[in-house]
Amino acid sequence: MRHPFRVVIVTGVPGVGKTTVINTLSRLAEEEGVKLHIVNFGSYMLDTALKLGLVEDRDKIRTLPLRQQLELQREAAKRIVVDAGQRLGRDGVLIVDTHALVKTRAGYWPGLPRHVLDELKPDMIAVIEARPEEIVSRQERDETRYRADIGGVEGVRQLMLNARNASIASAVHYASTIAVIENREGEVETAARELLNLIKNL
Ligand code: ATP
Ligand code: AMP
Ligand code: MG
Repeated sequence: MRHPFRVVIVTGVPGVGKTTVINTLSRLAEEEGVKLHIVNFGSYMLDTALKLGLVEDRDKIRTLPLRQQLELQREAAKRIVVDAGQRLGRDGVLIVDTHALVKTRAGYWPGLPRHVLDELKPDMIAVIEARPEEIVSRQERDETRYRADIGGVEGVRQLMLNARNASIASAVHYASTIAVIENREGEVETAARELLNLIKNL
């Protein structure tokens, strides 16, 4: 049911601040001597998608045909576990920056279906949340990414509700804990600290 190292999956809607919180978590963990190996699931998918000439950037992955996304997802999960196994011992923690639910052109699609969980075997699934209005303003301020397809405040609200439920459904398979963490405006460090404290109790 478990890898030798702990596995923490960090989820949340696009623009809520997962990657930002994880960057701060990395610093806090280092200060406290907690060994982390941080990976971005989408970066593994992008790596393969770029090699195959399927997309030009990470925000295009969710527009690919579903069978193609499924293949990228399957491959990413396997590679992440192989890489983590080479870097982490029993005292380490794998942090996976990803999504419980992806808004595709064919409908909401699970980021953590059974085949992914069978690879990752998560100890914890963290759900990063914030007020929908704040998330949309973060999306709009971040010019490095395209997130307009999420559908504004109403689209974010719907995705957030369904994604939280998807996280809970995924947690059932490997008896993972669920941690809902609020990433309040201007308070990234508070969210990262909360996540670190939960991780230390795994
Ligand atoms: P994606 O799923 O699309 O990768 P994400 O959840 O990783 O999105 P980030 O890229 O971490 O989101 O953050 C999106 C934007 O919001 C960034 O510009 C970041 O600086 C900003 N941001 C993140 N957290 C906060 C916060 N607590 N207060 C204000 N701005 C924030
Ligand atoms: P991110 O930078 O986290 O937004 O990741 C880039 C893209 O990768 C996402 O928008 C999704 O299209 C894709 N992605 C990330 N994690 C998963 C996952 N677990 N399952 C399917 N697609 C994913
Ligand atoms: Mg991110």
